[in-house]
Amino acid sequence: MAFQLSSEQEAIRDVVREFGENEIRPVAREHDEEKRYPHDLVEQAARYDLVAPTIPEEYGGAGMDLLTSAVVTEELWRADPGIGSAIGSRGFGTSMIRKFGDEWMKEEWLPKVAAGESATCSCISEPAHGSDVAGIETRAEQDGDEWVLNGDKMWITNGTIADVAVVMAKTTPGERHRGITAFLVETDREGFEPTKIDNKLGIRASDLAEIRLDDVRVPEENVIGAVDQGFYQLMNFFADGRTSVAAQAVGAAQGALDAAAEYAGEREQGGKRISEYQAVSHKIAEMATNVEAARSLTYRAASVVDEGNDDQLAAKFASMAKLFASEHAVEVADEGIQVHGGAGFVTDHPAERFYRDARITKIYEGTSEIQKNIISDQIL
Ligand SMILES: Cc1cc2nc3c(=O)[nH]c(=O)nc-3n(C[C@H](O)[C@H](O)[C@H](O)COP(=O)(O)OP(=O)(O)OC[C@H]3O[C@@H](n4cnc5c(N)ncnc54)[C@H](O)[C@@H]3O)c2cc1C
Repeated sequence: MAFQLSSEQEAIRDVVREFGENEIRPVAREHDEEKRYPHDLVEQAARYDLVAPTIPEEYGGAGMDLLTSAVVTEELWRADPGIGSAIGSRGFGTSMIRKFGDEWMKEEWLPKVAAGESATCSCISEPAHGSDVAGIETRAEQDGDEWVLNGDKMWITNGTIADVAVVMAKTTPGERHRGITAFLVETDREGFEPTKIDNKLGIRASDLAEIRLDDVRVPEENVIGAVDQGFYQLMNFFADGRTSVAAQAVGAAQGALDAAAEYAGEREQGGKRISEYQAVSHKIAEMATNVEAARSLTYRAASVVDEGNDDQLAAKFASMAKLFASEHAVEVADEGIQVHGGAGFVTDHPAERFYRDARITKIYEGTSEIQKNIISDQIL
C-alpha cells in the first residue's frame, strides 16, 4: 500500500496551507489570548469548502473521503490548533446525522453546516461518565409522541454556538450499551442550557461548554436512527473521529517542528547558529522523524476507513494512529520549546501554544489509555 496523495489531494493541501499561512497564522496569538471564536475565519473556510468537508455534495458539502479531510485537518492545525479546531469541529456530530438520520434532518441541517451558517455539537460525555460512555445517565422518557430529555452533558465542543445538537441519552435504564439512543435537539428548545467553559489550557479559540438538559421536549421524529441503537451507531464512526484527532496531532506537531526549525536557523550562540550544534540538529531530526511516522500511520488509518471493508481493522488502526500521533505531538512540541530556550516559555513565539494545544489530542475521542485498551483487546 503506497500512501501517496493524489494530485487532487495535494492541490487541496496547498490551498489549505496557503489559507493557514495567510489568514490563520497572523491572528492565531490574539485569538488564543482573547479566547475568541473565529467566526470570520469559519465563514472564509466555508467558502473554500473546508468546513465539515466530508458532507456529501448532494447536501452542499465537498464530499471528501477521510484521507482528504485528514489532510485538511492537518493543515488547519499546522497553522494554529485553536483556530484549526474551531473550523475543523464546526460540524461535530454531523456524521451521526449523515449516516443514521432521516432525510429531513440531512436536508435541513447538512447544507447549513457546510455553508458555515450553522454549527453542530455532539453531546456524549457527562460529569460522571467520560471514558465509560455506556454508563451515561442523561434520560430520555417518552411522553405521548414526544421524548423528554433530562441530564447534564460535560466538555461539549461548540456547546454555546451550536444550532443543533446530537444528544446521547438513556432510553432503557438499567441497560448499558443496549439502552442508549441518539436525539437531534435544536438548541433553541426550552430547557437546553449551555454554560461556557473558558478556562482551558489550550485550543482557546474553540468553543466549549457544559450543558444542562432540563425537561427538553423533542418530537418522536427527532430520534436519530433507532431507539436503543445509539451506542452501536456511535461506534460506527469512532474510527473516523479518532483518525481525525490523529490528523490534528500531526498538524500540531508539524507546526511545532516548523517553528523550531525556523528558530534554530536564526538564533546564534557562541558565534554560530544553534542549528549548527549537533544537539539541536539531532533534536530536529528526531522531531521530523516522529512527525512523519505519525503522518504515515494516520494516512494508513484513514485509508483503511475509506476502504470500508473491515471495521475491526479500521478501529485498530485509528486507535494506533491516535495514540501514536497524540503522544508524539506532545513530545515534539515539548522539544520545540527546548530548541527555543527561554523564548519558548513565553507567548512571543508559537512554541508554547503548540505545546498547550497539542495536549488535548491525548484526551478527547478516548484517552491514550482507552486507545491502548482497544488495541490490546484485538491482540490478546
Ligand atoms: C477540550 C475538550 C473537548 C471535548 N469535546 C467533547 C465533545 O464535543 N463531546 C463529548 O461528548 N465529549 C467531549 N470531550 C470529553 C472527552 O471525550 C473526555 O474528557 C474524555 O473521553 C475522557 O473522559 P473524562 O474526562 O471523564 O475522564 P475519565 O474517563 O474520568 O478518565 C480519567 C483518567 O482515567 C483513565 N481511565 C478511565 N477509564 C479507564 C479505563 N477503562 N482503562 C484505563 N484507564 C481509564 C483515563 O484514561 C484518564 O487518564 C471533550 C473534552 C475536552 C477536554
